[in-house]
Amino acid sequence: MDHFNYHGGELHAEDVPLARIAAEVGTPVYVYSAATLTRHFGLFRQALDWTDHLVCFAVKSNSNLAVLKLLGDLGAGMDVVSGGEYLRAKAAGVPGDKIVFSGVGKTLAEMRLAIEGGIRQFNIESEPEMRALSELAASMGAAVPVAIRVNPDVDAKTHEKIATGKSENKFGIPIAKARQVYAEAASLPGLRVVGVDVHIGSQLTDLEPYRAAYDKVAELTRALRADGHVISRLDLGGGLGIPYRRDNNAPPLPIEYGQVIRETVGDLGCEIEIEPGRNITGNAGVLLASVIWLKEGEGRDFLIVDAAMNDLLRPAIYGAHHDIVPVIEAAPGAAVQPFDVVGPVCESGDTFQKGAELPLLAAGDLVAFRSAGAYGAVMASEYNSRPLVPEVLVSGDQFAVIRARPTFEEMLARDSIPAWL
Ligand SMILES: *Cc1c(COP(=O)(O)O)cnc(C)c1O
Repeated sequence: MDHFNYHGGELHAEDVPLARIAAEVGTPVYVYSAATLTRHFGLFRQALDWTDHLVCFAVKSNSNLAVLKLLGDLGAGMDVVSGGEYLRAKAAGVPGDKIVFSGVGKTLAEMRLAIEGGIRQFNIESEPEMRALSELAASMGAAVPVAIRVNPDVDAKTHEKIATGKSENKFGIPIAKARQVYAEAASLPGLRVVGVDVHIGSQLTDLEPYRAAYDKVAELTRALRADGHVISRLDLGGGLGIPYRRDNNAPPLPIEYGQVIRETVGDLGCEIEIEPGRNITGNAGVLLASVIWLKEGEGRDFLIVDAAMNDLLRPAIYGAHHDIVPVIEAAPGAAVQPFDVVGPVCESGDTFQKGAELPLLAAGDLVAFRSAGAYGAVMASEYNSRPLVPEVLVSGDQFAVIRARPTFEEMLARDSIPAWL
């Protein structure tokens, strides 16, 4: 459920007509709903209310400071994958002891930043990283809490570019090798082993891969305890999918996911961490765009909009689908026709949808790309020297620009021409 609905024939974000935001901020623009973010976060908390837990929001899905502040104020921890994300979480007021640092390529500078600023746990992805982190922490007089990310070799049954839990993926250490790596971790002076970490992929629409992975984590936890390790936390990753189409089967709900966690690892007495991203932010955002031209092609008509692949990359890189809807609701029974919805960027990949069934629209009309709150603005670029897409947060009947569109002057000022040129 989200808070983007038609009222009086006009698409709203909560109580604000999207047309008003377009008029004041311009298009393209991302619009997020605070009520939807709050609701989705609450569903994960509720799903784990049977145990000690921390819901660590995956910052990479939407890293706007206002979004992080909203979730942090609700009690969310944060899962970060870079020094920049760590600094964003801190700047949003999230304390270091609620921040988990994941990612396969943490640099020494990033590790130092997090040790100095405070960190709940590092999720270690490889042995070289583990040794380097220990050495650095020890040199700083610290012993940092760590979980080791294991790769359970489970097929997440999702898009290959967002599957992370198969042995061919770059993530984690093979679960078969885990006991040996934990033994070394326990011997290193700069580390304090606290848990086990796993994350098998994104946009999972089936709970069985989770069940398979978490069963393996439970078995490993018992073995590690038998080896003498204190395993008090399990970080079970993120990845629960969202419905991208109104009409298709909805993925499992957070409450059902929480039940699988309870059934697989619930008896171990561990504090449970999860790292949902997309499920919290995805359907809490739309990308609002204007029609520039309607272009009649041969055998197909193009709707050229002012949003492009640089603003919303998912269709171009994953073939992802976003429902596209008119902001002014079509009259009941109004004729629809197929359009290829495309952006202005000079790439054929700049196609959002082929044959989208839409009412007849004209230049200047507004459309919304739904389910765009996750992996949308964070992947945006200025390709074709298009200004970085702005972001707006709505709450009830108020809205605020939470990232302004840069001016062309600001964009040009970032470059410099060397004196010798
Ligand atoms: C991307 C990622 C997540 C979040 O995935 P979602 O599909 O957005 O829930 C969580 N943990 C790690 C380690 C990730 O890389």
